[in-house]
Amino acid sequence: MAKELKTLVTFFGATGDLAKRLLYPSVFNLYKKGYLVNDFAIVGTSRQELTDDEYQDMVRTSISEGQDKDQVESFLKHFSYIASDVTEAEGYAGLKTKIEEESAKFNVVGNRIFYLAVAPRFFGTIAQYLKSEGLMSDEGYNRIMIEKPFGTSYETAEQLQNELTQAFDEDQVYRIDHFMGKELVMGIAPLRFGNPMLNTAWNKDYIKNVQVTLAETLGVEERAGYYDTAGALLDMIQNHTMQIIGWLAMEEPKDFSDVAIRNAKNAAFSALEIYDAKGADRYFVRGQYTASATNKDHVAYTDEPDVPKDSQTNTYIAGELHFNTPRWQGVPFYIRSGKRMEAKTTRIDVVFKAGAFKFGGQQEPQETVLSIVVSPDAHITMSLNAKEVSDDFSTQLINLGWAPTDQQKADTPAPYERLLHDAMDGNGSNFADWHGVATAWKFVDALSAAYAENKAPLYKYASDTMGPKEADELLERNGDSWVFKG
Ligand code: NAD
Repeated sequence: MAKELKTLVTFFGATGDLAKRLLYPSVFNLYKKGYLVNDFAIVGTSRQELTDDEYQDMVRTSISEGQDKDQVESFLKHFSYIASDVTEAEGYAGLKTKIEEESAKFNVVGNRIFYLAVAPRFFGTIAQYLKSEGLMSDEGYNRIMIEKPFGTSYETAEQLQNELTQAFDEDQVYRIDHFMGKELVMGIAPLRFGNPMLNTAWNKDYIKNVQVTLAETLGVEERAGYYDTAGALLDMIQNHTMQIIGWLAMEEPKDFSDVAIRNAKNAAFSALEIYDAKGADRYFVRGQYTASATNKDHVAYTDEPDVPKDSQTNTYIAGELHFNTPRWQGVPFYIRSGKRMEAKTTRIDVVFKAGAFKFGGQQEPQETVLSIVVSPDAHITMSLNAKEVSDDFSTQLINLGWAPTDQQKADTPAPYERLLHDAMDGNGSNFADWHGVATAWKFVDALSAAYAENKAPLYKYASDTMGPKEADELLERNGDSWVFKG
């Protein structure tokens, strides 16, 4: 039975791409599943002038394909709209009245979520106006959901954090990272903590290395304006990769509450070694794609539209992280992310040490791997040493595997649906905590500084490959290699 959630969500940026493409369909799914029943309201606001009817038309277009018409219409009754400019205090009075009216009409008992689906430069401003203009409720809860990116450096992130915390406490802030809403990213904790076999082995005694790969086949497309200032380091490593690492490197939480989970992740992040320029060069490889040898449409990054010919932007990053804790002393966490790679994948490979027992056959026990493939084609495999079918005691690796059925795939909530649900339910487990975000920025800033001064080479790699060979060498010198080779 779905637990009914009573809430009023105000969507800032209500006419934007994110709201139309991902947020409204997600709210509708929560309605269809019975999490939202009668006592909920959605207030949309943006600069555009729209009537309630026009707003409902817009939402109808974004959700209604193939849906039950009556259900769509009863759902849309909960939607209303008011135009406001988020940079001007005056607009907030009308919004306040609207929220209070809808709150009373739909009996949401003062529970308020403010979802900021607007450009990041507005995040701090809106948070402060919500407080100064009295939009926060005195009964029920007030929560703020923040889109990415959360700052562009530690300094800007800290400034935003200061602005937010003038109005909201940390436990009221829900920083979205949609990778955290992916089913198999959420699946890391049950695998780890639900199996004593894995949980007791989740440390330096049994694990040789951990690998996180976020590879894209796409190039920069039409996002050059943004991407050339960010690169893979800010676009993929600072946020998604580090958040996944949090689940893998964390200590065991005292229980499965969001506070305990955040504390356990923060304990690991506090022990992350932050590199200087020498460390950046030693433990990281940055790359940039050149033209493909096999696909003439895949041009070099510097030949992409709107990219400066002399751009030094990294479109690929690989590196080795160290957590200086008793659990992880000496265990490298390898990460890599790149554009225009040979294969698209988001995956985690945990490499376990080979057993020392000698069977005396031709082939002795090898390292085994737990692979959590998040996308595409989500699945989990675990390799084990087993006897080879032969006359002697040679061993071979066998693979145990699981993949969701078509029905399970169809039933899997989209990340935004899952995260909206969790925020309505007051569960912050799958949101980025300030401490983790701050550590990720400090780590990434140190690399950015080294790259800005060109203190590390920019290696070229051909499009449609798995990145520069120097990234393979990074692992080879530790006696390791990438599990996923493309
Ligand atoms: P968008 O440009 O499509 O929409 C922006 C919205 O903000 C519009 O509704 C616009 O009217 C409103 N707006 C702009 N200036 C305003 C002002 N002064 N006062 C009031 N409203 C104003 O942007 P988007 O793609 O929907 O992205 C919104 C946020 O979501 C951004 O932070 C973005 O980084 C993040 N995001 C978007 C996507 C996506 O797929 N679109 C994915 C992940 C994160």
